[in-house]
Amino acid sequence: MEKITINARETQSLGREIGAKLKGGEVLALQGDLGAGKTTFIQGLAKGLGIKKTIVSPTFIIVRRYPVSGRRHLYHVDLYRLEEEIGKELENLGLTDEWGRKENIVVIEWADKARNEIPKSAIWIEFEYVDEHKRKIKTDII
Ligand code: ADP
Ligand code: MG
Repeated sequence: MEKITINARETQSLGREIGAKLKGGEVLALQGDLGAGKTTFIQGLAKGLGIKKTIVSPTFIIVRRYPVSGRRHLYHVDLYRLEEEIGKELENLGLTDEWGRKENIVVIEWADKARNEIPKSAIWIEFEYVDEHKRKIKTDII
């Protein structure tokens, strides 16, 4: 899939569509610069999963966890602030135990920082800033 969105609402809608299809066990690896729309997309994705809570960026705490129906959880991860020993950090955060479990959906911003650690089965989604309002969103899988 490759799509140009022309405002934040469209990016959220795309996230919502994809979120509604997730079953559990998926790892979504998001890459793209600051302001490219990753968090906006995840806000929609959370809605698609039926999450009512407002999704705020976990930049300073790295991970936020939200309950999803059916005893599942959404893990929203932001690796922006991690610089060194990312593999170790991911372990300390408990993420290496959580991703891949069928009750968890893990979405990772700045995933390219952990390209070697992230499970091979991850769905990679690329975000590109085109202009003030346009974003290009690309993935091989969906
Ligand atoms: P990131 O998490 O990649 O740093 P954010 O989603 O936090 O990016 O920020 C994207 C910013 O760009 C928001 O302020 C949003 O309102 C704005 N924006 C403008 N057009 C779009 C679009 N087409 N898609 C997503 N965000 C957009
Ligand atoms: Mg973000």
